Amino acid sequence: MRTVTPQEIKQAIKTSAYPVALTGAGISVASSLPTLNKKFHGIPIETILHRSFFEEHPYTFYEFYREILRWKYCDPNPAHYTLAKYGISTVTQNIDGLHQKAGSQKVIEIHGNLRHLRCEQCCILYNTQLAKSQTLPLCHACGSILKPDIVLYNEPIQHWKKAVKEFLKADLVLIVGTSLQSSPINALPQLALESGAAQITINVHSDQFLHF
Ligand SMILES: [Zn+2]
Repeated sequence: MRTVTPQEIKQAIKTSAYPVALTGAGISVASSLPTLNKKFHGIPIETILHRSFFEEHPYTFYEFYREILRWKYCDPNPAHYTLAKYGISTVTQNIDGLHQKAGSQKVIEIHGNLRHLRCEQCCILYNTQLAKSQTLPLCHACGSILKPDIVLYNEPIQHWKKAVKEFLKADLVLIVGTSLQSSPINALPQLALESGAAQITINVHSDQFLHF
C-alpha cells in the first residue's frame, strides 16, 4: 500500500469507467455532526441502538432519536461535494443524508436514513417531523408505534442486493471514512477487487484528500 495525493485520486476518478464509493462516519467528521456522549440518560448508546431496546423502551428511544435528528441540520463538506460533483455512485453506512444534501444522485443508504419513520405493519413511510410533534409517533392507519427508518443492531442492512450490484460494476473503489470492521459490509470492496478493480482508501482528512 502507498500514499496517494489528491491529484492522483482525481486522476484515478477521471480515468475510471465506473467508480464506486463506500463511506462511513469518518466522511462526516468535517461536517461537525453534534457528538453524542457515549451515554444518553446514563444508558450506553450501543444499548439504545438495539432492536430490543426500541421495543421495550420506545419513549426513551424516541428521546434519543430526537437528539440525532439534529444531524439533519449539518452541512456537507468538500468530500461529500466531490463525490457528488463526479457523479460517483455511493454506498453509505451513514444516516445523516449529507451525500444527498451535497447533490449526489446515486446513494444507497444501507443503514437507513433520518428522513422517514416506518410502520412495519402497513409498510407506510411517514416524515420524520412526526417524531417532533408526537412523543411516540403512531401509524395513522393501524395505530402501531412507528419505527425510525434506521437499521438497528440485530436488523438486516437495507438494499444489500443493490449495493452488491454497484460493487460488481466498479473498476475503482473509494473507501472513505470507514474501517470496514463490520460484516457483511467489508465483503463489498472484495467483490470489486476480485474482478480487478483498483482501491483507494481515505480514512482521515477525507475533506482534504477529496477536495478537487
Ligand atoms: Zn400501520
